[in-house]
Amino acid sequence: AHEGILRRQTARESAARTYARALPIVPVRARGLTIEGADGRRYLDCLSGAGTLALGHNHPVVLEAIRKVLDSGAPLHVLDLATPVKDAFITELFRTLPPGLADHARVQFCGPAGTDAVEAALKLVRAATGRTGVLAFTGAYHGMTAGSLEVSGGAFDVRVARLPYPQDYRCPFGVGGERGAELAARWTESVLDDPKSGVRHPAGMILEPVQGEGGVIPAPDGWMRRMRQITAERSIPLIADEVQTGVGRTGAFWAVEHSGVVPDVMVLSKAIGGSLPLAVVVYRDALDVWRPGAHAGTFRGNQLAMAAGTATLAYVRENRLAERAATLGSRMLGRLRRLSHDFPCMGDVRGRGLMIGVEMVDPEGESGSGAIGTPTAPSAPGHAPRPAAPALAAAVRRECLRRGLIVELGGRHASVVRLLPPLTITDEQAVAVLDRLADAMAAVSR
Ligand code: PMP
Repeated sequence: AHEGILRRQTARESAARTYARALPIVPVRARGLTIEGADGRRYLDCLSGAGTLALGHNHPVVLEAIRKVLDSGAPLHVLDLATPVKDAFITELFRTLPPGLADHARVQFCGPAGTDAVEAALKLVRAATGRTGVLAFTGAYHGMTAGSLEVSGGAFDVRVARLPYPQDYRCPFGVGGERGAELAARWTESVLDDPKSGVRHPAGMILEPVQGEGGVIPAPDGWMRRMRQITAERSIPLIADEVQTGVGRTGAFWAVEHSGVVPDVMVLSKAIGGSLPLAVVVYRDALDVWRPGAHAGTFRGNQLAMAAGTATLAYVRENRLAERAATLGSRMLGRLRRLSHDFPCMGDVRGRGLMIGVEMVDPEGESGSGAIGTPTAPSAPGHAPRPAAPALAAAVRRECLRRGLIVELGGRHASVVRLLPPLTITDEQAVAVLDRLADAMAAVSR
């Protein structure tokens, strides 16, 4: 079955398929961290549906919640009508929202993907402000539909100003740390002050508290607060895209909580649907300027996803899985950092909670700052990274797969090996994951 299914997929499915190319697996069973293929092989899944599976595959509480809806005879599809299932989801979602937003927030069901919620958020801030321009960041990823692409890293549109996202390793100003983050913030201010920038009065700013697809780059808390300050001073709605960072992933229930920043708009998807498709936008009620029907969608009312999502949100909250992600994540980062001393191809190890990235570099390549920024900024030691090594990253992924470990790649050059395990991963499983990754690093370093 295994070979035949793969052969038919290659013959009939679009060239647009992505994960399927690097992972020739035919999953037939899954539980927690583990996937079993049609060929009987088992894998530790640190891709987790690109960060969707906060509780891993087929968690009993999620399955039970879905079964309960199925057995109750409740409708599975009623557009956006009020149902007990939806009511329970909204109640649980509001329980988790950051203080400062929960008490005057509205939730809008979009659907069914993260990109749909990003579209809704962009339309909303444009409608609410009567302006069009949007501030977005280099390396950002917000989805694949037209509006989301406009604000993502690879694209460019005249209505969107692309601003430097702070980072230590490939700091656009060649200095890293707090100083690099402050230079990035000042760049943002200078764009807003520049009469020629075309975005002096933008409709909003959209950012990821940790860039995921961009290569696992956590934004410094100080920079987050600066963005809040800059946008608040100029009455620019701040949109936090927590599609990937939400629901405990980064060690706080929502990643904005690390900095204490309260955004005006939050875009949520992935884990909130407990492995089924669900996407919402949450915003300050003052922004709720929609006319009825101004943003509709047939699949805004997936009852099974809401039930699975309610169970997931409640389980993460009640079992303090965000705290678990914080402690286990920093232990995993620590071990990976020690490992990187043995393997010069591991250029940078970074992350927050259970969102972890290892940037693969050419150990023989020449160091350079790659800075785009101010010519006066000196390149500090430690901020002169070697060239990104996408081929090595792909080799690591292959070697991991051979050892029964599924990892994801990301970053502008696809040179970052990413781990997004379920928050329910046990200590022993985490050790097994890192053992296999270490073996893979050794294999590509030979
Ligand atoms: N925003 C972020 C931060 C994401 O990571 C993603 C998906 N990886 C999206 C938006 C888009 O979500 P979807 O693929 O469900 O459209």
